[in-house]
Amino acid sequence: MTSGLERREHPRRPSHPPGATPYTGAVPTERLPHVFPQFSDVREERRHRKQRLAAAFRIFGRLGFGEGTAGHITARDPERLDHFWVNPLGMSFRHVRVKDLLLVNHKGEVVEGDWPLNLAAFVIHSQIHAARPDVISAAHAHSVHGKAWSSLHRPLDPLTQDACAFYEDHALFDDYTGAVLDIEEGKRIAHALGNCKAAILANHGLLTVGHTVDEATWWFVTMERACQAQLLAEAAGTPVPIRPDMAQLTAGQTGGHRTGWYQFQPLYDQVVAEEPDLLEE
Ligand SMILES: [Zn+2]
Repeated sequence: MTSGLERREHPRRPSHPPGATPYTGAVPTERLPHVFPQFSDVREERRHRKQRLAAAFRIFGRLGFGEGTAGHITARDPERLDHFWVNPLGMSFRHVRVKDLLLVNHKGEVVEGDWPLNLAAFVIHSQIHAARPDVISAAHAHSVHGKAWSSLHRPLDPLTQDACAFYEDHALFDDYTGAVLDIEEGKRIAHALGNCKAAILANHGLLTVGHTVDEATWWFVTMERACQAQLLAEAAGTPVPIRPDMAQLTAGQTGGHRTGWYQFQPLYDQVVAEEPDLLEE
């Protein structure tokens, strides 16, 4: 007889590249269906990042994070480290395929891809990727609860276990000066972000970063919901935050790079199973 905790083969369980190592978290790794990928071939690594990136856009689209042509997620190229992959300007998040992604260099020139580039994507993301060598991916969109919360010019409080992932690990950029079209503005945002995993861009929206596309995307998804939860709670009454020592403990349990990566895996599996065209290359 098997318990519910036994590892089960999933019918759509993804295959893993050779050399991949198991995710190491609190749960015994042999019971986890996903392994954290490692690569010896840069082409395979690039392909993997682009697949994750295309899926991230589909997930943003499903969750309603699109607002016209606004919003961008980038993935640093694994070989040309000052180049990044990004969505084409004017394409719905819900239509992005691997083959649609643009490769952009440090001067803002599109070196692969046919579509135009969103200037704000270049201005913001190029400066974040330059300032933070550890950042592989950065995500930004004008999602409703994030931008509503951003108008309050306050950091998020640790109201819930999920919100603790951002406890003492997000910044407030509270100097809105119009649409971000100047490289100096990108530099100021990157400076405000500091070493944090996220920033609230006041009167604008949310920005998250990660060591993987998976992680940056997950932080965006859960931060948007943390904004929604705090807006709901404050509309209903006076919420009681988690006390600081417990918030700090919880942040250590839920806010790590690998934890953020792992949280993304069921979203990736679902969107690839239901929209496999996103992998076209
Ligand atoms: Zn924006």
